[in-house]
Amino acid sequence: MQRILLVVVVLLIVWRILASIGRRLSEKAPGADSFSRFSPEARRRRQQARGEARTMEELVECIACGTFVPAGRSLTDGDSRAFCSEDCRHQVRVSSKHGRD
Ligand SMILES: [Zn+2]
Repeated sequence: MQRILLVVVVLLIVWRILASIGRRLSEKAPGADSFSRFSPEARRRRQQARGEARTMEELVECIACGTFVPAGRSLTDGDSRAFCSEDCRHQVRVSSKHGRD
């Protein structure tokens, strides 16, 4: 009788361990929830993909300091010259004026 009890207890423990492993695996695996638009994980993945696409897309070099900035964030100066900031644009304007005079 004691042996049977022992076997039952061991089986219970093993079942518990297997169940917890199974739960952990199903949490990690992409379930229906991760394909939902409102799932935070899916949103993060989408943002990552979009961010990468944006940075791969267009980087322009600031002609004043050489910093690369995304084209959407850069400032331009009439022609195709790009600047990383208002400061750089001002700097180039001033120096080019001085150069001409
Ligand atoms: Zn700059």
